Amino acid sequence: MTLQQIEIFNTLTRKKEKFVPINPPFVGMYVCGPTVYSDVHLGNCRTFISFDLIYRYLVHAGYKVRYVRNITDAGHLEGDRDEGEDKFAKKAKLEQVEPMEIVQKYTLGFRDVMRMFNTLSPSIEPTATGHILEQIEMTKQIIASGLAYESNGTVYFDVEKYSQKNNYGLLSNRKLEELLEGTRELGGQDEKKGRLDFALWIKAKPEHIMRWPSPWGSGFPGWHIECSAMSTKYLGTTFDIHGGGMDLIATHHTNEIAQSQACNHCEPVKYWMHTNMLTVNGVRMSKSAGNGFLPMELFTGNHKLLEKGYSPMSVRFFMLQTHYRSTLDFSNEALQASEKGFERLMNAVNTLEKLKTSEKSSSDIKPLHAKCYSAMNDDFNSPILLAHLFDGVKIINSTHAGTETISKEDLDLLKKTFHDFVFDVLGLKEEESASNNDELANNLMNLILEIRNEAKAKKDFSTSDKIRDGLAKTKISIKDSKEGTTWELQK
Ligand code: AMP
Ligand code: ZN
Repeated sequence: MTLQQIEIFNTLTRKKEKFVPINPPFVGMYVCGPTVYSDVHLGNCRTFISFDLIYRYLVHAGYKVRYVRNITDAGHLEGDRDEGEDKFAKKAKLEQVEPMEIVQKYTLGFRDVMRMFNTLSPSIEPTATGHILEQIEMTKQIIASGLAYESNGTVYFDVEKYSQKNNYGLLSNRKLEELLEGTRELGGQDEKKGRLDFALWIKAKPEHIMRWPSPWGSGFPGWHIECSAMSTKYLGTTFDIHGGGMDLIATHHTNEIAQSQACNHCEPVKYWMHTNMLTVNGVRMSKSAGNGFLPMELFTGNHKLLEKGYSPMSVRFFMLQTHYRSTLDFSNEALQASEKGFERLMNAVNTLEKLKTSEKSSSDIKPLHAKCYSAMNDDFNSPILLAHLFDGVKIINSTHAGTETISKEDLDLLKKTFHDFVFDVLGLKEEESASNNDELANNLMNLILEIRNEAKAKKDFSTSDKIRDGLAKTKISIKDSKEGTTWELQK
């Protein structure tokens, strides 16, 4: 199979570049995963769904991808600059449980949500707490290279020293002086030499529960070192793609580059990819802004800003209608339009199976098929892909209505295009709607009640009672009346 030639917008160079993996057809991709101290909000989901699209397309395009997405379960303090309380410890105190109970609860919740959105599991999902040794080892090596120092049990990365030979602001396209100007004085953190210095290892205060022994005393890793340690371990010192939300560029990813470069003496990543933010009335959705929708609130419609609930697939469709590098604003109107669009697309997929072929086609399907690939090869442009698929929907509906014709060969290609792109690449799927379930339950119950009535008519009361008692056990009550037998699910 020939590999598709993909172009990727690289944050590092701020332009679209030809994607040339280090060792084709293999691709190593690392995506910063969730910090599991609370439920993921829809903004987080947008980033993970975007990388699911990217992963799916790379696989479809013939690459053999090792996709690593971590779980941050330690070391994330409230302030992103190594200050404040540990997020896990704070939540654990609040809920009166162990920090690892918090981690377990929200990791499972995150996986459930990812499954509902039909995202594929990563190849490896490493946790920060499972890689403490690797983080200590990396910290030791950075100290050995002279770019980190210990101060009172905490180890800091020396940003100014690193900047003498490296460009610290490379990813964010900022000069060191600008960064220094934009950073507060060392309020209370005078163990640091420079105000841009960040912690690789943090000394645990006596009340801190999640702690590990280290050469610098009892403590815990800083937030950024886990991603450098785990990406190096599973993908090597230089790998192909690293991703996350745009909000991670200035600090987390900038620090990751500095750590990996200081330890391994090479650039860690060839292509840096960043997703844009999901906003609500123009404001970034975040836990701290208090404008975060939980996916379950969206599915059930149980939220003050929602007019109704939306299914996971219409939400996924809503997200895919915007390119991953553009902002996406949340609104009821946009979601309702997506719901209709998704339904139209799925109806067309079903109609496709019923189309009759003719000798000749009135439209040529090959260009449509090629355009779908071009859209995805152009930096994973899902909205353009959807526009081409909707051109296909028009052909499907007109052929079904008899105003257009399609040959067997073209129909096969159209089917393949829709199956590949709608299901494999966009990751959409037919939704098991409540009405489908209701219909199934109704049909089954009608059959059971018919068997019971036949048994009664034959005076076979042991069978009819067995059915009634069996249904009662599953909380279904039945009522006989002159009009017939009805059933009800007990509340
Ligand atoms: P966190 O759990 O805060 O570490 O975030 C997990 C991922 O979600 C990171 O890649 C963030 O960049 C991303 N993220 C956070 N807020 C948003 C948002 N409003 N829109 C899109 N992505 C977001
Ligand atoms: Zn990370």
